[in-house]
Amino acid sequence: MNFDLTDEQKIWQKTVHEFVAKEVQPKAHDVDMTSEFNWAATRKMGPLGLLGLNIPEEYGGAGVDAISAAIALEELGWGCGSTALAIAAHNGLGTTPIVVFGSEELKQEWLSRVASGQNKLAALALTEPGAGSDLQGGVVTKAMKDGNEWVINGAKMWCTNASIAEYIITLVRTDPAGGSRSLSQILVPTNTPGLKIGPAEKKMGLHGSPTHAVTYEDVHVPLDNLIGEEGKGLQQTLATLDGGRIGIGAISLGLAQAAFESAVNYARERQAFGKPIAEQEAIQWMLADAATEIEVARTMLYKVAWLKEENRRYNKRRLWLKCSLLKWRNAFAAMPFKSTVDTVTQANTPSNGSTEMPA
Ligand SMILES: Cc1cc2nc3c(=O)[nH]c(=O)nc-3n(C[C@H](O)[C@H](O)[C@H](O)COP(=O)(O)OP(=O)(O)OC[C@H]3O[C@@H](n4cnc5c(N)ncnc54)[C@H](O)[C@@H]3O)c2cc1C
Repeated sequence: MNFDLTDEQKIWQKTVHEFVAKEVQPKAHDVDMTSEFNWAATRKMGPLGLLGLNIPEEYGGAGVDAISAAIALEELGWGCGSTALAIAAHNGLGTTPIVVFGSEELKQEWLSRVASGQNKLAALALTEPGAGSDLQGGVVTKAMKDGNEWVINGAKMWCTNASIAEYIITLVRTDPAGGSRSLSQILVPTNTPGLKIGPAEKKMGLHGSPTHAVTYEDVHVPLDNLIGEEGKGLQQTLATLDGGRIGIGAISLGLAQAAFESAVNYARERQAFGKPIAEQEAIQWMLADAATEIEVARTMLYKVAWLKEENRRYNKRRLWLKCSLLKWRNAFAAMPFKSTVDTVTQANTPSNGSTEMPA
């Protein structure tokens, strides 16, 4: 058993970390305060490969392995939760269905465009006012065939990246009879007449990751914009979400790492009873617990990413459970320190990715 990253993965980790430390992390506070998406950094992510993590090189992506993709999102999460979420949704939700299920024509037309950093990103719209977890029973947005076009009518909710996307992959009902084979995924360019994107939702956090309601009023797109097979939209969506869980786990781990580093720095600075609180045993216990949680979460993340890379993924219930647990656990690991990060310091903390305890 080998727990080491490969040399290539280590170089990738260092490269992404340095990029995030320079272009993403210093802007995180402003992004959160102004709710403005960090386009300046995103433009530079194209050449680095961060906008085409799952896209093969022949279509303009980086095509990195699943562990490297998780490392990239972990580093982005370390720098800025909002930016990381937008980039994770772009890669994991917006491009993956085309990479895995899309036709050669759709791959040629769209993938290099959204991976370059010169254009907008990608989005996936599943959720509706009356459909969240229960997509099979709840989705009412419908697509009807009319000549060589689909005509789409309906409404979606909580679509990450909708306002900063070239296209929205939309889950629609193509068979009114219902059932597990009644949904399909259709690519809808955001400049299509009849598509309306609502204002950004005022969320409790992650303000720099825009989330929108989207409505479709007689939206016409070519039949060829169908992704994968007609009637397989639910299965394609669930497979896509499996990968997305690893992404959210990775972001949460990065957030936890950043929070931990801030907590350690503060504990070293803050004096109480004549010495830094880092020298008080109770604080050392808390930091030790946090460091342990983070290392456990990191081990779990890399293991799940490795399983995905080994192609032991969508057909096994055990992995689905692991991905869900990972998402839950890492989000949980990030939480106790969030308030510390928010209140203690806005300083740019240099990181070596270490959870080493203060001396
Ligand atoms: C920041 C943000 C970004 C998002 N981005 C996107 C996006 O890009 N695209 C998109 O399509 N959607 C997006 N969503 C929506 C998200 O995917 C949904 O919120 C999610 O699918 C859950 O749906 P719901 O909120 O309608 O909850 P519901 O499905 O109504 O569930 C409510 C509660 O009931 C529980 N529950 C539901 N079914 C069961 C069951 N069978 N057994 C036990 N408990 C159950 C749930 O766990 C939950 O706690 C986003 C949401 C947020 C907050």
